[in-house]
Amino acid sequence: MLELAPYAAHPERSRGRRYAEAPPAGRNEFQRDRDRIIHSTAFRRLEYKTQVFVNHEGDLFRTRLTHSLEVAQIGRGIARNLALHEDLVEAITLAHDLGHTPFGHAGQEVLNECMKDYGGFEHNLQSLRVVDELEQKYAAFDGLNLTFETREGILKHCSRENARRLGELGERFLKGHSPSLEAQVANLADEIAYNNHDVDDGLRSGLITLEQLSQVTLFQRYFDQVRTLYPALTGRRLIHETVRRMINAQITDLCTQSRRNIQEAAPCDIDAVRAQAPLIAFSPTMQQEQLELKRFLRDNLYRHYRVNRMSNKAGRILRDLFHAFFDDPGLMPEEFQARAKFDKPRAIADYIAGMTDRYAILEHRRLFAVEYQPSL
Ligand code: MG
Repeated sequence: MLELAPYAAHPERSRGRRYAEAPPAGRNEFQRDRDRIIHSTAFRRLEYKTQVFVNHEGDLFRTRLTHSLEVAQIGRGIARNLALHEDLVEAITLAHDLGHTPFGHAGQEVLNECMKDYGGFEHNLQSLRVVDELEQKYAAFDGLNLTFETREGILKHCSRENARRLGELGERFLKGHSPSLEAQVANLADEIAYNNHDVDDGLRSGLITLEQLSQVTLFQRYFDQVRTLYPALTGRRLIHETVRRMINAQITDLCTQSRRNIQEAAPCDIDAVRAQAPLIAFSPTMQQEQLELKRFLRDNLYRHYRVNRMSNKAGRILRDLFHAFFDDPGLMPEEFQARAKFDKPRAIADYIAGMTDRYAILEHRRLFAVEYQPSL
């Protein structure tokens, strides 16, 4: 590992864990966080959770798991380039989507709507809830007992109301402070990953076309470049050569601009980083192009009628499940029944958010299918 910058997160100066533990032997505190995340149940479930496409729609599309791995890979590259702590970025990126509901954003919206009178549902906050409370693996505490720095990175955004409830971790949202540079990197690595892999998955699915993408500056620039270099190239290779150039351009731009920002602000340590506006950023031009791409994906892919159909069906499944459990919490497994005694809506949201796509579909069938199905 390269020498760590003074403004990076240094594991030996961590603000610590909620429950004191002896320091790890042979690895640093952030590696320990990363290891705990990889061994968690919620992490394994990411394999069967939707990113944009429902898991069973095709074996080649991204799932939350492969998305998280791509975010980690991009994030680590940027961290190393900027002499930030790679293990912390890896831990944050691998954990960032642990709280996602089944069926992607459609699931999040419906669960939030079901929970509107009970504090709402926010996947980002749920990721924190997973690592702080819901994972049950250790004898001495609930959750994974991660370091402050990893938890700070997982909590990307948060309402003022929730921030007040979260104490030390919520403080920055009330004071208008920033998280560590590692957390900022994780956040933008997420954007780079999904914008590019959604172009790839969108083309593969046939929901968007090369012709439509020609209106997107970033795509068209590298598409033209590849065609000039390889005039005979077609199909998947042409797309891959284009998308990999787009990823590279975004990472390079982010590193250059962020290095410049860091040099100008000259933070002496991580607390100086936290006290000012975010320093990890794209150049204004790339920011514009990135926005254009995002808008394109929103209008043409995320709101495609075939995606809408999936979202609509997913919404019905989750709404039905929520109401059935609300009417009778006794339909949930015992662990969640026990939780429901303290806070029924939250226990139901925890149970549903933890489901994979296929588990939610199966659970819906178990509870609502009229036909006799002996195997269920
Ligand atoms: Mg993500």
